[in-house]
Amino acid sequence: MEYLPLFFDLKQRDVLLVGGGDVALRKARLLSRAGARLTVVSHAIDPELAELLEQHQGEAILGDYHADLLQGKTLVLAATDDEPLNERVHHDAVAVNIPVNVVDNPPLCTFIFPAIVDRSPIVIGISSGGQSPVLARILRSKLESQIPVSFSRLGQLVGRLRDQVKARFSSVNERRVFWEKVLNGQVAEKVFAGRDAEAEALLLEQIKEGSAENHTGEVYLVGAGPGDPDLLTFKALRLMQQADVVLYDRLVSDEVLELCRRDADMIYVGKKRDNHAVPQHDINQLLIDHAKAGRRVVRLKGGDPFIFGRGGEELEQLKAAGIPFQVVPGITAASACSTYGGIPLTHRNYAQSVKFVTGQLKNRTTDLNFAEMITPNQTIVFYMGLHTLELLVQGLIQHGKPANTLIAIVSQGTSTEQRVITGTLDTIVELQHQAQLEAPAIIIVGEVVALHSQLSWFGSTDLLAG
Ligand code: SAH
Repeated sequence: MEYLPLFFDLKQRDVLLVGGGDVALRKARLLSRAGARLTVVSHAIDPELAELLEQHQGEAILGDYHADLLQGKTLVLAATDDEPLNERVHHDAVAVNIPVNVVDNPPLCTFIFPAIVDRSPIVIGISSGGQSPVLARILRSKLESQIPVSFSRLGQLVGRLRDQVKARFSSVNERRVFWEKVLNGQVAEKVFAGRDAEAEALLLEQIKEGSAENHTGEVYLVGAGPGDPDLLTFKALRLMQQADVVLYDRLVSDEVLELCRRDADMIYVGKKRDNHAVPQHDINQLLIDHAKAGRRVVRLKGGDPFIFGRGGEELEQLKAAGIPFQVVPGITAASACSTYGGIPLTHRNYAQSVKFVTGQLKNRTTDLNFAEMITPNQTIVFYMGLHTLELLVQGLIQHGKPANTLIAIVSQGTSTEQRVITGTLDTIVELQHQAQLEAPAIIIVGEVVALHSQLSWFGSTDLLAG
């Protein structure tokens, strides 16, 4: 190990910063976040740095550095572009055993700054030992994305109730088991969901009971997005990785399923090969049963659970059964397919509103309100409309939408199989007949489709574009 990571308590301690520019400002911000009292010495001091010193009762010395300034300092930093001066600061500090850092110059440092993930009181420092700060920063952004910002509040809650737990359990081992359950369980999840008061009440109850066992589980209704796993939210990923059971639909891609916890029970509730879906009532019951058995159930749905996803119906049942739940939005097919197809849903010159419509027609008769879809300057997106394409197009034309209105079909959006065709209301049926795009597909109607030829950027676009 090149360097030993340590965490320094700088509250009310004096730190000398030699240099008054940008770099010094960045370091000053960090040091004052840790409560240090700063003395900055430089011929010129950046106005922002001067302001920061004023706010934090720091001292600004406009003039030359000299070794006397080291007296009484806990740390010293040099952030100047004057090499000989940096070296002098280094030698002076080493001579009196004060830890010294010369920014971006590891040989002149007796300590270095890590890349930091700050979820105070939890703080993570990452170092490459000066070999590759960029690599350390990449790792940092990976961690940033995995650790919810609310970890801070969880850390604070634990800090507040630590003594009570200590008093409740005499052995270290009991305390460890208790905390492991708490921090992997509902208390933590409640904090992440912003329900801090509930989390605290539950934790207090668990302390009283002397156990953090889960009696009831919870259901997370999670939007899995359109297929590309990069389009999951951080929260979706975190909950998927904690799940005991996952109930998923046909639209959830294999790549997304791969990201669920390895030992979760995976239950498919979409349409079977014989085309019979698990009835909604049975799905509701499965969710309730697993949650009542104390499990963490992820109900994974393609796109967004509240857009043509029957998410609302499932939640009503959970509510009635008294099961706690959370909902995580996902990127809905209309958004995903329009962006990955290079077709903005609104555009100042073409459309000021957008409408999401189901293309599923009861008994194949048109029970849609076409009359309200023919107004110009709006974009219509049909979900579940591939099989009724002909009826939809006829309906629009019959109600007065011009036959040369532009229309696009985006199939298997965001996947490597994505295909897009564009045409007009009177050509699209024939174009689709030739192209044979497959479900799932969305249909976009409106002048914005004209932008596809310029803005298409993802995958290969179809040459059939008419
Ligand atoms: N809740 C989902 C929609 C479910 S309805 C969401 O928010 O996206 C199912 C319809 O969604 C499909 O018939 C199709 O029209 C559309 N769809 C879902 N994923 C799609 C994808 N990757 N590409 C194209 N259309 C998709």
